[in-house]
Amino acid sequence: MKKGKVFLVGAGPGDPGLLTTKARDILVRADVIVYDRLVARRILQELPKHIVKIYAGKRSGTNSIPGQDAIPGILISNAEKGKLVVRLKGGDPFLFGRGGEEIQRLREAGVDFEVVPGITSALAVPAYAGIPVTHRKFASSVAIVTGHEDPQKSERVDWKKLATAVDTIVILMGVDNLQSILTSLVEGGCSIETPVAIIERGTTKRQRVTVGTIRTITAQALERRIMSPAVIVVGDVVNLQKELSWFKS
Ligand code: SAH
Repeated sequence: MKKGKVFLVGAGPGDPGLLTTKARDILVRADVIVYDRLVARRILQELPKHIVKIYAGKRSGTNSIPGQDAIPGILISNAEKGKLVVRLKGGDPFLFGRGGEEIQRLREAGVDFEVVPGITSALAVPAYAGIPVTHRKFASSVAIVTGHEDPQKSERVDWKKLATAVDTIVILMGVDNLQSILTSLVEGGCSIETPVAIIERGTTKRQRVTVGTIRTITAQALERRIMSPAVIVVGDVVNLQKELSWFKS
């Protein structure tokens, strides 16, 4: 029997044009694709009809879906049947995507796998908003941080230390905790006038950019009913957005 294999593939941040050619080549050859909520539907719609497409996304707000734990099992059983399986994740599979955990399970089961990195929303979404995350004049370092940690985990992001440790902070999954994150950054030494951008549904037709400062952004977010998925950028590079904005959604 043909030996199966699992490809852990990044789908990019939303714009289907940001899927890599390697990812596309593997997707069209797949027997089974197990995909997440943030994978652009257009990528899937354009694939051959005979491919089995399994939705494994969680709805926002629900932390542990019945199913997340079942995903490795689905991947393993299909690979053991000799299938070419793609585990397709939004952005890059190793950045807050549980990609590492899933392939640990594959390794334990003795299933072959490959990883195809993707274009992460952490960099591409600011780019589509006209925000370079580093700049020779304004930022020499950038940190990518989750704003939504597993509540069961005792180790927390040390926002107060981050406040002065890096020039640009890119926060994913941070909409729900925006206020408390910003408060910690100020307590840690960030100026209240530090520029902040929130980019919703970046790289898609529905991209929306909100720019303010630590002082103003929480009220703006409330007023504009800002919703996930959104990338939050904190740092002086946000000031470049006015000049460099280019993407017309
Ligand atoms: N592995 C993904 C990130 C998964 S975490 C990647 O590399 O992009 C999910 C978070 O990513 C969302 O809560 C949001 O903060 C961010 N995100 C993903 N796609 C996005 C998009 N199109 N626009 C804005 N934020 C996005």
